[in-house]
Amino acid sequence: MKLRTLSLCGFATLAIALSANAQKPNEPSKSFYRNMHRQEITIPQIMGYNVYKADLHTHTIYSDGAVTPEFRVKEAWRDGLDIIAITDHIEYRRIEREMLHYMGDHIKDEYRNLPKGVNTNLQGDAADERGILSNLNIGHERAVDINKLYGLLVVRGVEITRNDGHFNAIFTTDNNRIYHPDIKTSIGNAIKQGAFVFQNHPKLDKSTASTMTPLAEQLHGEGLVKGIELCNGPVMWSRLISYCLDNGYTPIANSDVHDTSEYRFYPEHNDGCYRNMTLVLADKCNEKSIKEAIFAGRTIAYHNNKLIGKEEYLADLFRASVTLHYVGLNKKEEVVVMLTNRSSLPYTVKYGNKQVIADAMKTVQFALPKGSKSVDFTITNLICGNGKRPTVTMQVPRKE
Ligand SMILES: [Zn+2]
Ligand SMILES: [Zn+2]
Repeated sequence: MKLRTLSLCGFATLAIALSANAQKPNEPSKSFYRNMHRQEITIPQIMGYNVYKADLHTHTIYSDGAVTPEFRVKEAWRDGLDIIAITDHIEYRRIEREMLHYMGDHIKDEYRNLPKGVNTNLQGDAADERGILSNLNIGHERAVDINKLYGLLVVRGVEITRNDGHFNAIFTTDNNRIYHPDIKTSIGNAIKQGAFVFQNHPKLDKSTASTMTPLAEQLHGEGLVKGIELCNGPVMWSRLISYCLDNGYTPIANSDVHDTSEYRFYPEHNDGCYRNMTLVLADKCNEKSIKEAIFAGRTIAYHNNKLIGKEEYLADLFRASVTLHYVGLNKKEEVVVMLTNRSSLPYTVKYGNKQVIADAMKTVQFALPKGSKSVDFTITNLICGNGKRPTVTMQVPRKE
């Protein structure tokens, strides 16, 4: 109300007050010196393993992303991740193509007839034998260099990008030795380096049993591709959850961020959601331990406060996150309890025909039917198959 009645004279007074406090020209503001803060995401141990938060699919200016590898590392640290892979497209390098085209006559003689580079857009052009002139390791190397100040685990990787499908190879050792005109040979080259390969953002093809493309289904069947990105950015492939889990493929959720995670995720889900993460159940956050866990399928895909994984992992996650306390009897002699959630993940819990939300880091109070000594909770935001949710039985401890 006061603001509405503020006169022009009031504004003039305000302006004078502000100019008195104004910083001198060229002097950085106080906020310039403020340290960047990391968001901490607390997840308890599951089945004796630590839970590490990974994004295994991100892009930078070295393919078609809008930011540098250095920015990606700082952003991942700020977002609370433990592990990041810079997985630029091998065969789609938009900025290189534009730069070479712009440089025209200034480029070396041997490249003068290649003003758009070599194999820079295999989604538009046919793959050929000339290979690739760029250093495809540079994104990872720059990320590793800045990461000395941030302490994440940076995993080397690439996105193998053709019209028949996109596949990420992570834990590669030399990204310059993967390209081949034939996609299957490219994937084989990554596997020879010890890489783990997963299907990215699966295309729908109703002609196959899995509803993935024939190529994807064939590569999975031959054991070359061992994981499925069930969640990519804002999209979740619900129809593939049972196929992934029942056939032993590793469930994965990634951002596939090209611009910034803030731009991609937070405006639309500004209600306590994090960016997509692959939660990795491992002993340690080093490459050996994380690689072993991903090959063994010990992951949970996190997307928009939904978690997808094997039933035993999800049930144990819930058990480890919450405690149930008896409080007393209400007037109807119903058993009043409190459920405390000490994790950063919220749970939507059904019991009988009722539902409660166990928000992250909060306690919720509610009543169970008269005489309850235990309760079966079905957690509806935990997904262990198409339409399948885990049920956890908890005792209601009475006070002496
Ligand atoms: Zn892709
Ligand atoms: Zn991508």
